[in-house]
Amino acid sequence: MQSHTISISEAKALDAEDPLSGFRKKFIFPQHNGKDALYFTGNSLGLQPKAAKYALQIELDDWGEHGVEGHFRARNPWMHYHELLSKNLADIVGAKPSEVVAMNALTVNLHLLLVSFYSPKDSRKKIICEANAFPSDRYALLSQIEFHGGNPETDLIEIEPREGENLILLEDVLSAIEEAGDELKTVMMGGINYYTGQLHNIEAITNAAHEVGAFCGFDLAHAAGNVPLNLHDLGIDFACWCTYKYMNSGPGSVGGIFIHEKHHNSRLPRLEGWWGHDKETRFKMTPDYISMGTAESWQMSNAPIFNMAIHNVSLNIFKEAGGMEVLRERSLRLTDYLEQTIGKVVEATSANLEIITPCNHDNRGCQLSVVAHGQGRELFDTLSANGVIVDWRDPAVIRMAPVPLYNSFEDIARFGLILQDALN
Ligand SMILES: *Cc1c(COP(=O)(O)O)cnc(C)c1O
Repeated sequence: MQSHTISISEAKALDAEDPLSGFRKKFIFPQHNGKDALYFTGNSLGLQPKAAKYALQIELDDWGEHGVEGHFRARNPWMHYHELLSKNLADIVGAKPSEVVAMNALTVNLHLLLVSFYSPKDSRKKIICEANAFPSDRYALLSQIEFHGGNPETDLIEIEPREGENLILLEDVLSAIEEAGDELKTVMMGGINYYTGQLHNIEAITNAAHEVGAFCGFDLAHAAGNVPLNLHDLGIDFACWCTYKYMNSGPGSVGGIFIHEKHHNSRLPRLEGWWGHDKETRFKMTPDYISMGTAESWQMSNAPIFNMAIHNVSLNIFKEAGGMEVLRERSLRLTDYLEQTIGKVVEATSANLEIITPCNHDNRGCQLSVVAHGQGRELFDTLSANGVIVDWRDPAVIRMAPVPLYNSFEDIARFGLILQDALN
C-alpha cells in the first residue's frame, strides 16, 4: 500500500527488498554534515566507483615498474588496452564489440564521425537535428556545414517543439525527414535530450532517414548507460557518447563511438592516425595506412590509459549488476517513485511543479526535468543547504536523475521532504 504522504520507512522497505540496492556501496558520495548528500546529478557527472583508485594505482605502478615496456608488460598491456573494454561497452549500447571503441572525447568524436557521415555533395547537403540540443552538438554541426562551404542558415534543419510545447513530436521529425528527402545527407539527434529528458524514438527516426537515403546517427551522452540500446540491430550508422555521465568514468574521461559494421570497410572519408592502423604491423612503422577493418580504424592516437582504467572499472560494475535491462527495470521504478513523490509534494504544498519530461516509459530515461513555476534561485539554495545536489537552470528548471546503480528510494523520499519544507 502506498501512503498519501512521503514516508521514509516505506522508502526503506522498497530499498530492502531490491537486490540491486547493494551496488550503492561501490560508490563514493559527496558528504553533507557527515552524511551522504542526496546526489541526483549523475546525468552530469556520475559518482566515483570506489575501485577506481585501485585500478588507477595499478597503472601508475606498472608505469613506474616497466616504463615504456608497460605497453607490452603491464598487467593489462597498454598496447591493447582499449580491447579490454569493447565487450562490456558493446553490451551497454547493443552492439558487436567490433563496432565500438573508447577513444578521445565526445565532441571531438562527433566531428570525426561527421567527417565520415557528413560529406555533402551537390544538392544532398542538409542535416536534421533537434532544436535545443546540447550547445556543443549545434556548434559542431554548424561548423561542419561551414567547413564544407555550406550555408548554416539553410543546411541545418532544427526540429522545434510546437508552439507552447516542450517536447518534440515524432511525427514532426519524420515529416521533416520526408520533406528534406534527397537533399538530406545526415540526421544527427540526441538519444535523450539533456534538458527535457525526452527519449526519442531511435528506431523510427533511423528508418525514416534510411528511407530517404540519408545517414542516421545519435549523440547518446544522456542515453548510454541510462536506457537499453540496440544500435546494431536497428542498423544505426554511427553514434557517440561520453562516459562521465551515466557511465561513472570520471570528469572528462574517454568518450566512445559506434560505427555499424556495414561501414567498416566501405570507402567513407575518414581522418586517420597510427592507432587505426592494423595492429599486427602498426609498429613496423610503414608509410602506408592499413586499416584495422573495425570501428578501431577510426582511432587516431594511442589510448589514455588512466581514463580507461577507470572506465573499465565502471563497465565491470554494469556487467556485475546484470546489464542494462536489469538496471532499466529498477530505473523505471525509481523514476516513477520520484514522479509520485513530486506529486505528493504538490498535494501537500499546492506549489506549481510541472514535470516536462514525458510520463510515458518509452519516452524517458531516468531523468525528470521539473519546472518550479513561481519559484526562484532561493529554492535551489535551500535545497543545496540541505544537502540536495540537483541541477538548476534559470528561470526555475530542476533536472534530477535517480541513477539505478547508486540512488535509493530513501534518497528520493528524503529529497521529497526537503522540497516540501522548502516550499512551505
Ligand atoms: C554532456 C554533453 C556534451 C559534452 O561534450 P564533451 O565533448 O564531452 O565536453 C556534448 N553533447 C551532449 C549532448 C552532451 O549531453
